[in-house]
Amino acid sequence: MTKGDPLLILENLRAYYSSKKGLVRAVDDVSLEVREGECVGLLGESGSGKSSMALAIMGLFEKVARFSAGTSNDPSLRRAFEKGVPGAADLPGVRGKVFFRGKEISSLPQEELTAIRGRELSLIPQGLGHALNPQHSIGHQTAEPVEIHDENIRLIELKRKVLEYLGLVQLADANMRFVLDPGSFSGGESQRILIAMALIAGPYLVIADEPTSALDVTIQRQIMNVLKMIRDEFDVSLLLISHDAGVVAEMADRVAIMYAGKIVEYANAVDIFHNPQHPYTMGLMSSFPTIAMMQMRAGKKPKLRGIPGDPPDLTAIPKGCAFHPRCQYVIDRCKEEVPEYREVKQDHFIRCHRWSEIEKE
Ligand code: SF4
Repeated sequence: MTKGDPLLILENLRAYYSSKKGLVRAVDDVSLEVREGECVGLLGESGSGKSSMALAIMGLFEKVARFSAGTSNDPSLRRAFEKGVPGAADLPGVRGKVFFRGKEISSLPQEELTAIRGRELSLIPQGLGHALNPQHSIGHQTAEPVEIHDENIRLIELKRKVLEYLGLVQLADANMRFVLDPGSFSGGESQRILIAMALIAGPYLVIADEPTSALDVTIQRQIMNVLKMIRDEFDVSLLLISHDAGVVAEMADRVAIMYAGKIVEYANAVDIFHNPQHPYTMGLMSSFPTIAMMQMRAGKKPKLRGIPGDPPDLTAIPKGCAFHPRCQYVIDRCKEEVPEYREVKQDHFIRCHRWSEIEKE
């Protein structure tokens, strides 16, 4: 594969789970492509479905969402959904397709997926506190992705590799501290260890889920620098998930905007930050002072000032366009019809009935 080739393709991906309040449509009809060598930012407010999307790609959604056995990945349900059988779309589980390096991985058995996970496709999970096992040393945990895929690796070689990667992410005194358990490390250090674990087996794509969110500002900056080093020096593509437009603006080549489980706009970073077309993206950008300032410097006037109201509960997504209760451009059609996700110009996708009229306003 060469730079620019499609690496990860999502086709109409859905990931639903049951809750006491009802069916949570966490990821709802998402289509997206990440190319070899690029960093794609996935930006949206908390609770918009970003982490669920990461888990669905990794084949971990069902495990984390804890479905009742037998409902989530039943091939007959999947076939019923694909044939459009009424009601099949409204069941918990993952539907749609995930292609990775040209192979459909969404229907692979867990053993085959385990062979890909960690080695070719890895995740830096959200939530530092739960991501590391408190009972094992960080050296042991960093070694795990290599050991799983190479049982015959010699201990001395494994240790050399662990120290190399802990050194790359600039973990202080790694050669002395790799025998300690996670409780001996700060939040920033734990994040560095998780990054080393994600990289050590040499993946093609790393999904980083809110890599800076639990950290203070100085440590956030250091972690961003580590991620930039990875992007620049490793032959690895990144899917960077964040609710912070500033983090995404620093790193991403292309940006997907997520709202209520759907991608509402996907384009190159310059268009998203300087010339957003979807009303939600416009609102999101104007609520970040630094981004609004960037737009003004580029001669653009931010079209909206913040966004009124709150994001919807994913068990009760408004009919039609999910953004309609908050949208200043709403018309009757928006309240009834879900807008299609369309490519409106090359590599620029929008899900809005009125994008072309709004552009001219
Ligand atoms: Fe606003 Fe309608 Fe576009 Fe939704 S479809 S973003 S409500 S104009």
